[in-house]
Amino acid sequence: MYGALDIGGTKIAGALVDAEGRVVVRSQRPTPARESADVLMAAVTSVVDDLAAYPEWASLSCLGIGSAGPVDTVAGTVSPVNIPAWRAFPLVEQVRRHPAVPRGMKPALIGDAVAMTAAEHWTGAAKGVANALCMVVSTGVGGGLILGGSVHAGTTGNAGHIGHITVDQNGPVCPCGARGCVERYASGTAIAAHALESGWAPPGGGPATAREVEISARGGDPRALAAFDRAGRALAAAIAATSALVELDLVVVGGGVSQAGEMLFAPLRHHLKSYAVLDFTRDVPVVPAELALDAGLIGAAAAGAAATGLSRAGAYATGRTSA
Ligand SMILES: [Zn+2]
Repeated sequence: MYGALDIGGTKIAGALVDAEGRVVVRSQRPTPARESADVLMAAVTSVVDDLAAYPEWASLSCLGIGSAGPVDTVAGTVSPVNIPAWRAFPLVEQVRRHPAVPRGMKPALIGDAVAMTAAEHWTGAAKGVANALCMVVSTGVGGGLILGGSVHAGTTGNAGHIGHITVDQNGPVCPCGARGCVERYASGTAIAAHALESGWAPPGGGPATAREVEISARGGDPRALAAFDRAGRALAAAIAATSALVELDLVVVGGGVSQAGEMLFAPLRHHLKSYAVLDFTRDVPVVPAELALDAGLIGAAAAGAAATGLSRAGAYATGRTSA
């Protein structure tokens, strides 16, 4: 049984996952995101308490932690943008000290987008694919890479962070400090902001969200359609660049904004035709993610298994081949 924790800005989830990548039991708490570091850690501890109360915990063989980033997998620390009290917080060590965690078991840390990538590669849309880019298009834009049949997490666990690739050198300044990042065009926040700037207003008078823009776009509103076209174009440029760099076999797109379906995928594929023009980059398939809700947990389990040298999930995430 693989243990998994998934730390996000809105919820802290935990699960026990079997060797086939199926969630067997789970627990979840809201993230006290504005509270102190200790209160946050207490919520994580409660989730571990819940999991440890299940009889399946007795056969725990590894533990993986997926967290909103940035993460530092070398130091075992997390600094989630949406959880201000945690900066270089030693999450791995804190979880390791939980009395229910078996002595000698060191939790493995992975960023949330890399976790989603590991999950899609283990049991989802990228299963069996040697070279893939998996993207999470949500309030931000993240991603991860499969290279040579394994998750490529990079030295500190942040490789594949496609949201902060520059697609317009003269574009708007991004909170990361660079200019014209993909995230400034393709995140849900950016889609809603661009629609508002062009004179669109949410049809119900509620908050301006990408979902509201999508509803207007389905009704034919040209400002809403333009916001999705702009997002799809930025994603296409980043995908074409990545494909030229590492020769992709598949692109998987998940996250809340991808739920807009063809509203996002159609302009993405359309613009990809004009950016991915080399023989080896042309016609790379772009498909939706398959593991919407549990990807973070399944990916964390894969990371735990990888660090412990277990199973095919381990082979995927570390590059080791199964014996
Ligand atoms: Zn940026």
